[in-house]
Amino acid sequence: RRPGKLRVLFLISDTGGGHRASAQALEAALHELYPGAFDCSILDIWTRHSRWPYNTCVQGYRCLAKRPLAWRLLWTYSVFPPTREATSLLVRAAGIVPRFERALADASPDLVISMHPLTQDLPLSALERLGGGRRPCPFVTVVTDLGSAHPHWFDRRVDTCFVPSEALRRAARRRGLRNSQVRLRGLPIRPTFWQSPTGKVETRHALGLKPDYDTVLVVGGGDGVGQLGAIVDALASAAALRARTPTQIVVVCGRNRALCAELQLRPWPAGVRVVVHGFVSQMSDFMAAADVLVTKAGPGTIAEASARGLPLVLSSFLPGQEAGNVQFVTRGGFGAYRHRPSAIASTVMSWLDSPQQLADMSSNALAASRPLATYEIAHDIGTMLVGRESQLMPRAAASS
Ligand code: UDP
Repeated sequence: RRPGKLRVLFLISDTGGGHRASAQALEAALHELYPGAFDCSILDIWTRHSRWPYNTCVQGYRCLAKRPLAWRLLWTYSVFPPTREATSLLVRAAGIVPRFERALADASPDLVISMHPLTQDLPLSALERLGGGRRPCPFVTVVTDLGSAHPHWFDRRVDTCFVPSEALRRAARRRGLRNSQVRLRGLPIRPTFWQSPTGKVETRHALGLKPDYDTVLVVGGGDGVGQLGAIVDALASAAALRARTPTQIVVVCGRNRALCAELQLRPWPAGVRVVVHGFVSQMSDFMAAADVLVTKAGPGTIAEASARGLPLVLSSFLPGQEAGNVQFVTRGGFGAYRHRPSAIASTVMSWLDSPQQLADMSSNALAASRPLATYEIAHDIGTMLVGRESQLMPRAAASS
């Protein structure tokens, strides 16, 4: 423990890229609003401190995220109350709670911030054991799903549960949380998304893109999942038929190195520029440079695109977990869901040919976004822990 600092422990699991990205965003906001006050650490507690097979859930997620049918089965199993309860008993019988208790004792936090559905129930029980029945420090949940959420997100024992949307506020209330426990703020996104971007043309220059080409960004979450190869093929073929305006397609493969290597070697139709990247750290610039985004329905990517005013086509979603994200986008009027690559390509091209429609969707995206959510959550937490409001809170957020 650093002397004089309050210790904040973020609990996540690295299933996908979104939970860690949101935790990092919140950590950055806490440091910015309360300089020198906090000592933060981010812990994937299941991978580091549970036991086999539970410590392999990250690999399991990567495998299942590519198989929607298997995912649907697992989701149904895990939300159905009797099987959910049976699994919880099984995990407890495997001695996970005492392991978590030791991990939490070592970390000795002044506050725990949970940012994953699997880091409520057992860590809360472990903290209660640690304090001999009374929790030794406050515990808050920051929900990082957008339109629908697994029941595990909502535990009545938490001090505060931050939710990103009205749909999830209602879900939290249905799961028995009191009104005073639930705060609607938004989904934490990284600092590069908090400010307005520089212009499209400058950003394209800086990224080595053609400044005057229509630009389509294709992303598949942190792990580069979803039929990205087939989607880019269909987009490139459709773009080749558009003689009037040249098109460039930027593909971000995330940590999917095999896909990145394969796409970099693939020949593309004449007249279409295809730029392939692996994991990029400056996603906010790529989004600022694009006219349209094609992505799976990951909550982090959707919240980021919304903050950038970027219309999007959702190409797939994980049954259950991401289904509500599709409604969040379509009801918000800033995107559509298309599954077949040919349908994705024709929707994208029709939007590119209708600048007014793109402009309207872009305004809707901005209207649905909450770019200052990260500051607001950090401010609430800071006020609770430090006992004073931050003078550094941006004015627009402070007044909300
Ligand atoms: N991301 C990134 N660089 C990449 C690919 C993805 O920074 O090359 C980020 C993306 O901007 C988002 C997160 O990874 O913040 C993905 O989160 P999301 O909730 O969309 O999907 P997940 O990967 O968690 O399923």
